[in-house]
Amino acid sequence: MTANASRQGAGRMLVSFVRAYPGRTSLALLALIIAGVLDGLGLSLLLSMLNLATGATEDPSMPEQVALDIVESLGLEPTTVSLLVLGVAMIGVKAMIVLLANRQVGYTVAHVATDLRLKLIQAVMNSRWRYYLAQPVGRLSNAVATEAHRASEGFFHGAVMATQTISALIYAGLALLISWQASLIALLFGGGLLGILHFLVRIAGRAGRDQTGLLKSLLSVMTDQLGAVKPLKAMAREQHVDRLMSSQTRDLKKALKSQVIAKAGLTALQEPLLAILVGVGFFFFLVQMSLPMGTVMVMIFLIARSVNHLAKAQRAWQHMAVSESAYWSLRETIDEAEGEREPARGHLAPSLERAISFDQVSFGYGDKSVIKELSLEIPVGQLTVLTGPSGSGKTTVIDLVAALLHAQSGQIRIDDQALDDTDHQRWRRLIGYVPQDPLLVNDSVFHNLTLGEPDLSEADAREALELADAWEFVSALPQGMHTTLGERGGRLSGGQRQRLAIARALIHKPRLLILDEATSNLDAESEAAVVATIEDLKGRLTLLAVSHDDGLVRAADQVIRIREGRLAEIAAE
Ligand code: ADP
Repeated sequence: MTANASRQGAGRMLVSFVRAYPGRTSLALLALIIAGVLDGLGLSLLLSMLNLATGATEDPSMPEQVALDIVESLGLEPTTVSLLVLGVAMIGVKAMIVLLANRQVGYTVAHVATDLRLKLIQAVMNSRWRYYLAQPVGRLSNAVATEAHRASEGFFHGAVMATQTISALIYAGLALLISWQASLIALLFGGGLLGILHFLVRIAGRAGRDQTGLLKSLLSVMTDQLGAVKPLKAMAREQHVDRLMSSQTRDLKKALKSQVIAKAGLTALQEPLLAILVGVGFFFFLVQMSLPMGTVMVMIFLIARSVNHLAKAQRAWQHMAVSESAYWSLRETIDEAEGEREPARGHLAPSLERAISFDQVSFGYGDKSVIKELSLEIPVGQLTVLTGPSGSGKTTVIDLVAALLHAQSGQIRIDDQALDDTDHQRWRRLIGYVPQDPLLVNDSVFHNLTLGEPDLSEADAREALELADAWEFVSALPQGMHTTLGERGGRLSGGQRQRLAIARALIHKPRLLILDEATSNLDAESEAAVVATIEDLKGRLTLLAVSHDDGLVRAADQVIRIREGRLAEIAAE
C-alpha cells in the first residue's frame, strides 16, 4: 500500500475507471450532461411561465429569454400553457435520460467487479509457482470477494458524484446568468461551508483504509485457522484463535464505527449549513443588494438546489473515499501477480521416448540450498519411487521435473532435449499429477474428473475410471458418474477418493504420471489396493512417485533414495 501511496486517491481511482471503460463512461457522462441541460431548460421554461402568470413586469432574465426564444423557434405562442407543457416535457425527458444513464452505470458497476475478479484470477493463475506458493489463500479470496465488490461500489459512487456535480453546475450556471456577482458570492459561501465539512470525508477514507487492511489480515488468518480446526478443537486450543480473531474484529468494529459517525456527521451537518446559506442569502440579496423579491426567490431556489447537489456530491465522495483503498489494494495484488507472470519458456516440442534425466542439478530457495548436484534417470514406462527423509528435497525434485521450478545449475533433459528449451506448457500437458490430498470438490464424479474441460466426454471419463480401478465403485453409485460427491468427496473412502484423483490425472492421457505421496494418507488395505492400481499402470506410461510406503517401494522398478538434496542410493528392485 505505502509503496503506491503517491498514485492513490479517489480522483485517481475515477480516472483509472474512465481509462478502463472510456466508451461506457463517456456515454454515461454525455447522457448526464444532456439531462442536466434539459433540466435547466425545463426549469427556465417554468420560470418564464411563472413570470407570465404572475404578470411580473421585470425584464426577462437570460435563462427566461433563452426559454422564450426556444418556444418561438418552435413556432409556438409563449403562453402559460405552452411554457408549462414544454417545461414539464423537458423535465420528463431528462428523467428518462437519467434513468438510461443510471442503467448504464449499473451495468458498468457489474462489469468493473467482474473484470477485476477475472483479472486477478488470471494474473494469479499465470504467475510463477514460487510466487503462488507464497500467497496466503485468504488474501486472494478476500481480494476476489470483498475488495472487488468494494472497488465496484467506488465506481458507483464516483458516477453519483459526477451526476450530482453536473446538476450542481447547471443550477449554478442558471443562477450566474441571472446575476453573476450575487450568485458567485453565494456559491463561494456555500462551497466554503461544505469545504469545512471535508474533514469528515478524510475520516471516512481513513476508516475505509483501516477496514481494507484489517479484512485482508483477518481473512488470511481465518482461512489458515479454518484449515487447522481439528487439532485446535481436539486440544481445546480454539480460544487462542478466538482471541486473535476477536482483537482484529474489534479493530474492524472500531473502523466501522468511525465510518458510520463520519457518514452520519456529514449528512447531519450539511443540512443546517444549507439552512444557514438560505437565511444569509435572503438577507444578503434583499437587504444588502436590494434585489427585487421575485429575483431573490428564483436565485435562492437555484443556489439552494445547486449547493444541495454539491452536498450530495460530497456524500458520494465520502462513500468513494471509503471504497477507494479496497480498489488500490486489489490493483496492487493484480499488478504484483502480473509482475510475477511466468514467462513463456522453451519452444521445442517435448517427446518422452527414453528417459528424463538430471545431470548435476542444483536448486535452492533463497540462500538455502535444497538440491545439490543431483544426477539421476527416470526411465520411460517404469515406476520410479523417490524416497528419503522428510525435507530431503523429494517434492522439489518433482517440481523441477514439472518445470514449476528451474534448476539453478546443471541440466534436466527429456530424452536428449534440455527441459529449458522445451515448451513448458506442452511438456506439462503430458503430465498427470496426483497429490497427497485428492482435493475433490462437492460436484459430480464426472466434473471432478474433467474439471469443466468441455472436450472430455463420458467415454473418456469411463476409460480413465477403468484404468484407475474406480469404475466398479463409481458405476455402483446411485447416479453413476453423475453422482454428487459431497463436501471434499465425503461420501467416499480414502482409497476411493485417491483412485478418483488418479483417474483425474489419467483422463488427459498423460505420458508421465506423478504421484506425490499419493498413498501416504491411506490405511493398509486401501494402500495395497491403490498400489495394485499403480502397478497395473506400469508399462502404459512413465510413473514417478514420491513415497515412504513399503508397498509402493516394493512395487517400484527403481528406488531413488535422497538425503539432504543428494543422491543417497539408487536401487533397481
Ligand atoms: P520433501 O518433499 O523431501 O519433504 P521438500 O522438497 O518439500 O522436501 O523440501 C526440501 C527443503 O526445502 C526443506 O528443507 C524445506 O524446508 C525447503 N522448502 C520447501 N519449499 C520451500 C519454499 N517454498 N521456500 C523455502 N524453503 C522451502
